[in-house]
Amino acid sequence: MINASLTQLASALAAKQISSVELTQLFLDRITQHNPSLNAIVSTQPERTLAEARAADARIAAGEAGPLTGIPLAHKDIFCAEGWASTCGSKMLADFVAPYDAHIVTRLKQAGMVTLGRCNMDEFAMGSSNETSHFGAVRNPWNTQCVPGGSSGGSAAAVAARLTPAATGTDTGGSIRQPAALCGLTGIKPTYGVVSRYGMIAYASSLDQGGPMAKSAEDCAMMLNAMAGFDERDSTSLQRPAEDYCAQLQQPLKGLRVGLPKEFFAEGMDADVRACVDTALAQLRELGATTVEVSLPNSGLSVPAYYVIAPAEASSNLSRFDGVRYGYRAPEYSDLNDLYCKSRAQGFGAEVKRRILMGTYVLSHGYYDAYYLKAQKIRRLIARDFANAFEQCDVIAGPTSPSVAFALGEKSADPVQMYLSDIYTISTNLAGLPGMSVPCGFSPSGLPVGLQLIGPWFAEARLLQCGHQYQLATDWHTRQPEAFAG
Ligand code: GLN
Repeated sequence: MINASLTQLASALAAKQISSVELTQLFLDRITQHNPSLNAIVSTQPERTLAEARAADARIAAGEAGPLTGIPLAHKDIFCAEGWASTCGSKMLADFVAPYDAHIVTRLKQAGMVTLGRCNMDEFAMGSSNETSHFGAVRNPWNTQCVPGGSSGGSAAAVAARLTPAATGTDTGGSIRQPAALCGLTGIKPTYGVVSRYGMIAYASSLDQGGPMAKSAEDCAMMLNAMAGFDERDSTSLQRPAEDYCAQLQQPLKGLRVGLPKEFFAEGMDADVRACVDTALAQLRELGATTVEVSLPNSGLSVPAYYVIAPAEASSNLSRFDGVRYGYRAPEYSDLNDLYCKSRAQGFGAEVKRRILMGTYVLSHGYYDAYYLKAQKIRRLIARDFANAFEQCDVIAGPTSPSVAFALGEKSADPVQMYLSDIYTISTNLAGLPGMSVPCGFSPSGLPVGLQLIGPWFAEARLLQCGHQYQLATDWHTRQPEAFAG
């Protein structure tokens, strides 16, 4: 059961081979057994979870089940969920119990999914290794001396170790795709605006996008069917006809044009990653795709532009944490100003403070034109590069991350090295495009490698089709870390 796909779980539930309560208990037990060595899950509420499972069983018995009814999942701790501590990995929100559900939490609940618990994450989703969490680092199930990636590292580690069949994540600059790659999973960041940001604690609002993380493209497609859709409470939510992300999965890849950006295949990518990505591209060609070289000339500017724009937005978004309305308040202060200063100084971690400082700086008078405005112009150029490239191809392929999972502590003293973990993923967010990572092999040290697929706006179904067809021909996505097999 722990390796079953969502489709297999749905059939087992429909055939009454297992009840949702039994399935949920199985995963709750696995969390109890394995989470202490991973720190992937930060909170559970077994009573509440089992009540949801009983309600799902009743729905199944009444013949009112949908494709996800009764299947458990875990949410990244960035999504507000009524009655759940929703901490965003921060001391600032360590005691914050959300009074309402994020849009996607509501949607997945309506679909009948059962919440197992909440996934650890980098503080306010700032990080690429899950080491900035107030609740401690998460460990990679493939090698517990290594990071799982970030910021959705808890979600990734939990799915990889089979503590949950699927999880939610968010991606501002790579936080779904990079941890998916480092943990051997499939994860998709949809087109900006496809999934509502309502109730998703804001980091950089023009870049943030929620999405599913699971074992396969097919599982992600099923989840996205429930998560996507217009929501009037998010002003950037897109009003489009509903789409079935599973509809295209079975179509063969014959004739698909895959663009390979020459900038992605220049220096910077580790040889182990390169070898797996090259093999995956050969496999796509065997499946009937053709490859063509394309160019994204401004992609080298994506990391610097992102580290102006994202901190700028973060400095504004995080100003709401003032110790007055909700969140952490310093126990002692002399006046209102002191209350603000002490609450923020004590409530935020070092990386978050660094971003707030950078963001405030680039937005300040005299620097706005020099940094923020220039970064916005580069953002437009990056989007235009993609539009040009997509005249020659249907999807773009390349590595998700320049390296496999690195050791805990290896990059934490060097923010720039850490920021470069997202060198291949960030441009997608700047352009608002959908991007996906699928497992495509292992390094000689036994760590997973991810293949990234990027599409034009609204090409989620095509990306998922590519991933699914590739997964029909390969078995990387079925591998499981041995230490967590039993
Ligand atoms: N690692 C990037 C950052 O720290 C991206 C994080 C994300 O996508 N949330 O900002």
